[in-house]
Amino acid sequence: MTEAIQAALTRYWGYTAFLPLQREAIQAICSGKDTVVVLPTGGGKSLCFQIPALVLPGLTVVVSPLLSLMKDQVDALAEVGAPAGRIDSSMTEAERRELFVRLRSNQLKILYVSPERLLNPGFLDFVRPLGISSVAIDEAHCVSMWGHDFRPEYRQLGALRDALPGIPIGTYTATATERVRQDIRAQLKLADPLVLIGRFDRPNLLFRLERRYDLLSQVRQILDRHRGESGIIYCIRKKDVDDLCERLQELGYRALPYHAGMDDADRKRNQEAFVAEEADIVVATVAFGMGIDKSNVRFVIHSGMPKSLEHYQQETGRAGRDGLGAECVLLFSPGDYHTWKFILENAESTQALDIHLRKLSDVYSFSTGYQCRHRSLSQYFGQRLDRLNCMACDVCLEDLEPVTDSLVVAQKILSSVIRQREVFGAEYTAGVLIGSREQRILANGHDQLSTYGLLGDLTKHEVRDLIEQLTLLGALERTGDFGVLRVTPAGRQILKSEHTPRLMRVAKKSEARPGREDVSWKDVDRELFEELRQLRSTIARARNVPAYVILSDATLRELARWRPIEPGVLQQIPGFGKKKIQDYGGRIIDLIRGYASKNGIAARSAWAGTAGPPAAGGQRRRRL
Ligand code: ADP
Repeated sequence: MTEAIQAALTRYWGYTAFLPLQREAIQAICSGKDTVVVLPTGGGKSLCFQIPALVLPGLTVVVSPLLSLMKDQVDALAEVGAPAGRIDSSMTEAERRELFVRLRSNQLKILYVSPERLLNPGFLDFVRPLGISSVAIDEAHCVSMWGHDFRPEYRQLGALRDALPGIPIGTYTATATERVRQDIRAQLKLADPLVLIGRFDRPNLLFRLERRYDLLSQVRQILDRHRGESGIIYCIRKKDVDDLCERLQELGYRALPYHAGMDDADRKRNQEAFVAEEADIVVATVAFGMGIDKSNVRFVIHSGMPKSLEHYQQETGRAGRDGLGAECVLLFSPGDYHTWKFILENAESTQALDIHLRKLSDVYSFSTGYQCRHRSLSQYFGQRLDRLNCMACDVCLEDLEPVTDSLVVAQKILSSVIRQREVFGAEYTAGVLIGSREQRILANGHDQLSTYGLLGDLTKHEVRDLIEQLTLLGALERTGDFGVLRVTPAGRQILKSEHTPRLMRVAKKSEARPGREDVSWKDVDRELFEELRQLRSTIARARNVPAYVILSDATLRELARWRPIEPGVLQQIPGFGKKKIQDYGGRIIDLIRGYASKNGIAARSAWAGTAGPPAAGGQRRRRL
């Protein structure tokens, strides 16, 4: 069995190494054991149930919550030559008939269904005699009210155990909490399952947090680093989505909106355009994302604070599923806390509100704090980061540096708050400290204060940032609806020089620093990559599937790095299984040959020297 499992990985997907815990998850199902598999997005969950389906005799039924997810997975399986189908309400009568014929004649190994369909007695009676080898429940957190996406129809799946006795049930989710795991076990009546929990840190994601001072220009700076690449911009409100998307469209970006206020057809069209790479950017509320399997999302921007760190993990998790570098930038303003609070107060029950507000405070501390972002997120999900420096966040990359005269700077700010009689907010205080000529400051005579203009060498948003840090450190507190600043006893200790706070600022050098993801482009011929990308789009359009289903970005980069010109060599490129080589290997080789001769570059007919291509799967572990 072990050999069959390995052979399937190579034959169908063209990988030679398993990602962490994949092998264990696959072996458990193959030996008839139930599983709870918790792997982060991009952890390779699909293969954990698709490989058993292919190597076990009979049919594997996969329960999936969304039509679009099912469709993408079935399309992807068809591309690798794995016999899979789906049954759902959108199918025509003829399609349905054809599917049943294929099922009856045992031509299918994997069948995707919705939970309602699977539990339909007629359906169960039909599939039972076909010999069911295992049941896979994808997005299994949907059974739990404690998850972020509870679906009542998933609850009914508890009946499966009795309906299909003795058949192993594999459950798969990226939701990490213990409570959700317990719920999956109990609700689905799993029998002593093998529980496999992966590491939640995603080392290929580069986290950057920036205070938001000019949203459009900050967003454009990020987009300019990712020209022509796919990305998502999350906004808090529908109106923010419409505004930002419109501005970006006016500026010529290929951006489309997505939020719950749009009608279903428009939303669907925009999502499909994004997946098909007819648009580069989706500007969306949290409503967007579930069911997006697109593996080459290269950036996720949050234009405001996310609702919780669970949401942040989920939303940023949509970037870099192919294991290549991807950038996640959170542009926040302390006011976002109040925006969310307002939204939640109007939408949640008192009990739920408490939980949400606690989660919001965690996001606030995460955003305004200066701890390694990978470490903070890992800790939040109860895991330790085993590296001292993640090399993939603004803190560890020293985008930030300590303010050299922290004590003096802090004293200037605190003393200004006191001199303003503790009745103004952060924005106003920052104005006084930089020496602003704002009307209200002049009208209050605050241009006469001894603190007026004391931090004139800083910008207003830099001073606001320092005020935020002092608030977080407990030296200042915000009071009332307007966030009036007051100096706390801890702040008074700073004023008396009894305590020196550690303040941070954006390092000047980081402004011109290129994105770290450049490293994952090492030795990649970018021009060739672009040509391959175009060819991929052409093939994808002709076959009516998303581009990333044809070949992942990781595979394209390997091709553009190694420039193989012999079809036989394609087997060594991770991500090229047998069928893909057969179907479009020839066109790829032709393109590389043409490119090499056009540019007078040596293409490689064999791996020269010792530096051959990495072991399949190995490239996924390469960091930014
Ligand atoms: P998840 O469902 O956990 O988010 P997917 O199953 O979509 O993850 O897999 C994410 C990406 O990783 C896909 O592009 C997939 O082809 C790739 N992948 C899966 N298993 C391997 C492997 N063993 N080696 C290399 N890449 C893999």
